[in-house]
Order: sequence, then structure tokens, then C-alpha cells
Amino acid sequence: MNTNTRSDHPTGTLDLRGASGGGIFDYDPAPESVKVKIDDSYGLFIDGQFSGASGSSFATVNPSNEETLSMIGSADGSDIDRAVAAARAALPGWSGLPGIVRGKYLYRIARRIQERARELAVLETMDGGKPIKESRDVDVPLAAAHFFYHAGWADKLEYAFPGKKPEPVGVCGQIIPWNFPLLMAAWKIAPALACGNTVVLKPAETTSLTALRLAEICQEVGLPKGVVNVVTGAGETGSALVNHPDVNKIAFTGSTAVGKIIAKATAATNKRLTLELGGKSPNIIFEDASIDQAIEGVIGGIYFNQGHVCCAGSRVFVQESILDTVTQKLNDRLASLRVGDPLDKNTDLGAINSSEQLGTINKYLDIGGNEGAVRHDPNPSSVPEKGYWCKPCFFTGVQPSHTIAREEIFGPVLAVMSFRTPDEAISRANNTPYGLAAGVWTDKGSKIFDMASKLDAGVVWLNTYNQFDPTSPFGGYKESGFGREGGRHGLAAYLK
Ligand code: NAP
Ligand code: MG
Repeated sequence: MNTNTRSDHPTGTLDLRGASGGGIFDYDPAPESVKVKIDDSYGLFIDGQFSGASGSSFATVNPSNEETLSMIGSADGSDIDRAVAAARAALPGWSGLPGIVRGKYLYRIARRIQERARELAVLETMDGGKPIKESRDVDVPLAAAHFFYHAGWADKLEYAFPGKKPEPVGVCGQIIPWNFPLLMAAWKIAPALACGNTVVLKPAETTSLTALRLAEICQEVGLPKGVVNVVTGAGETGSALVNHPDVNKIAFTGSTAVGKIIAKATAATNKRLTLELGGKSPNIIFEDASIDQAIEGVIGGIYFNQGHVCCAGSRVFVQESILDTVTQKLNDRLASLRVGDPLDKNTDLGAINSSEQLGTINKYLDIGGNEGAVRHDPNPSSVPEKGYWCKPCFFTGVQPSHTIAREEIFGPVLAVMSFRTPDEAISRANNTPYGLAAGVWTDKGSKIFDMASKLDAGVVWLNTYNQFDPTSPFGGYKESGFGREGGRHGLAAYLK
């Protein structure tokens, strides 16, 4: 029991709030004890070797304390040339291997991710700010699962597409965001390699470290040189990769704004393109739902990973008869979430990934209030002075025209709205330029199927939320992008 945080409560009052609030039923701190070795600087991984970048370097920081973890090389045009040339040179050998041999390499990578799981989880949390329980229980196991799953396809491609002769697309340029750094790298690399392609991967600027560890794993398992190349850097590095004439396919996960730039840049070329972009996903709660279960799903759907989730359920539509009950329960549950040290195993919400992203979230919080929505801030956590922090909150009194109901915030902020009939729920949920995911909470099976068929979303979760599996295709409608990742559909994107 933690007794050292009660000084801010009046003597004699019995405070039963959660740990972060400093009540008597607090958890003791449970810091992760594994120390991870981080070099002072990292170069690029090209042609099977680490080497310095031609450009300058930049710092990657721990967003929970603003300490610099390492200096990362910034790849310029000439580095991209080298990486693409290495991938091109490796292509005939890699695509010419029997599928079963490619599969063996993918199995080895998967096993090595499992063996180094704890190190990868700690590193992911230090570099990106997400709670250790998420990197440990979600990101790293799913990354391994993606390699295992695609290892299984490598020698069965002709069964995936009967009657066709599947051939790799060629050299793939892959660009990923900072919210699931290792997992997004796995989503991109595993299917590409299974299908016989070679890759040049660019991680996000704020979270390069686990992608570089994955490069190290590629070395350890003896992956032929040039099959996977990792080039670190900022937007210009990504842009150089997109515009390189010898790249056959671009696979991009990130914001809709950058997705549009890439779509334009590749439009007049022969490059294949898949885009996994932003979202403003709805969670719809009917009056016949199991309300406590729905609350847990909604909470996980938006506050998981500080809301840094493309498919975050950032709009919740509640049937009018249960609006007051749901609002009260949301309030109570939010009050019990623990915000703080991401390396503490009890932490529910860690740090915001960067000061820039924190600025974006704060801007939306201001706009929400200025446009007339009512902000609820029930979480009592006291967050550290250093680092980038945003406590979970939600807004009621939100109109469909409000900015916070329309734009992606990518933070722990929920917009609560109401509806009366299923038709109204559908039209309000679909009233968005995005179409990545949706959730429906009801006890009635017929309503579930009816809603699922009418929602414009790549994924519809029913009485659950944020469930991911490599066997299941994932991707968006409308401005959430096109192309699918995962499952048989995801393979198709990497084959001619
Ligand atoms: P972002 O700003 O679009 O960046 C994504 C990646 O693109 C980063 O590696 C970035 O480099 C790079 N980049 C930036 N400008 C570029 C350009 N002009 N050409 C080529 N590459 C460029 O997105 P983010 O802020 O990292 O990630 C958050 C967004 O990703 C959200 O909108 C979220 O919804 C979306 N997302 C979607 C999915 C999905 O599956 N649909 C999954 C995860 C995230 P820097 O890091 O150096 O800027
Ligand atoms: Mg960082």
C-alpha cells in the first residue's frame, strides 16, 4: 500500500480513489527492472550493415522525462539511393528462393522477437511513451505473430490465389508512424518478405529505436543482405523514398495529410500504392447493451495508448435513454485510470509521444471548450513535471459540426453524443470523411448484423473494440485510405 501520496488530502478524510489519486487503496510502484542497452548513436541499416548517414543526425527523446536516449542518423537522397540499390540487388536472390526457405527466415525473425521480447517492450516504452503493459502485452506479441503468420504463407501463395502465378511486386518503400513503431514495421515487412519482395523501411522520426533493433534481428538470423534496409530520418527522408524512380511500391501508414501528398507524388508513376491513414471512429451504445461492458470497451477504445491509435473510438454515440448513466459511468471509470511513468507496470496511460503532438491535443482541447462543448476532467493523477502529459478527458454537449467531432485528435479525448433510433446512429456515425473502424454495443444479434452492414468502416467490432489479429485484414474506407494489411487480402497488396 502506498502511503506517501496522501499529503494533499485533508487529514481524517478517507480517500478511496485510485492509485494516481493517492487514495488508501493505491498500488505500490512496480517499475520495470530490465535495463536496455542503448548506444549513443545509430546509423542506417543498408545492405546488411549499419553505417553512418550522409546527412546530419537528430536526437530521439524519452517523452516521459525529455531525456535524450540516442542520436539517430538522418538519411538523405544519397542514402536512399544506396538503400534502394541494395534492395534491388537482393531482389532476384530473395524472390528466387523457394517459399519454404523464405518462410524459415520469417519464422526465425518471429522467434527472435519472442526471445528479445522484454528488451523490445522496454525500448518501445522508453522511446515512444506508451505503458509497458501495452508494449509487453500488445505490440511485441503481435509483431511476432505477424512474422509467424506470414512465414506460414511464404510457401503457399498459389493456394492463397488459386489459378494465378503470384509474383513479387519488387522493391517496396515502406513508411510508418510513431504510434506502434515495432508493430507497424512488422505489419509492413512480414507480408512483403513472404511474397518475395525486398524493402526499404522508414520509421517515424520520434521512434526509430525498435525498427533498428529489428534490423539487428535481421542480421542475427542471417537474412540475406539487402532484403531489409532501414533508413531513419524525418519527412524529407520519406519523401526521397517515395520519389525514388527505382521503387516499385509504396506502403504508407500515417496521417491523411501526408497520404494525400504521397498519392499525388505517385499518381503519374508506375508505383503501386497502399495507404493506411487517419480515422474518427464511432462507438455506438444501444440502450439494450451490457453497459459496464460497453464502458470498458469505449474506455479501451479511446484511452488505450493515450489515444495514439488510428482506429481509436474517438466519437461515442449513446442512445438517449441511457446518456446520463453512461456519462456518469465514464466519469467514474476515468477517475480510476492511472496516468504516469510508462515503465510502471500499473500505469494505464503513459506519456504523449512528443511535445508537438501534445501541442496538437491541447489546441483541440481549447477549441472544444471555445466551441461550446462541456469538458469533463475527472482524472486525479498528478503527472510528473517533466515530460509530455495529457490526462484522459471527455466532452459532452458535442454537436456534429464541432471541430472535436470532425477532426482526428490522436490523443486521450472522447466526444460523447446521443442518438434516438438506429437509423440516426448510422447517419451520424457515417457523417465523417474517415472510415477506418467502428464499434457497436447491443444485446441484439439482428441489430448487430444490420449495423455492421450499414457502417462505412473497414473494421466493425461488435461488443468489443481494438482487437487485432494477423489473419484479419485491416484498412480503411474513404479518407482512411485504401488497400488492406493482414490476412489473404494483405498478401495481395505485395503480389503482381
Ligand atoms: P505522419 O506525420 O503522416 O507521418 C507518418 C510517416 O510519414 C512518418 O515516418 C513521417 O516521418 C513520414 N512523412 C512525413 N512527411 C512525409 C512526406 N512528405 N513524404 C513521405 N513521408 C513523410 O503521421 P504520424 O503523425 O507519424 O502518425 C499519426 C497518423 O497515422 C494518424 O493520422 C493516424 O491515424 C495514422 N495511422 C494510421 C494507421 C492505419 O493503419 N490506418 C495506423 C497508425 C497510424 P516523420 O516521423 O519524420 O514525420
Ligand atoms: Mg523518442
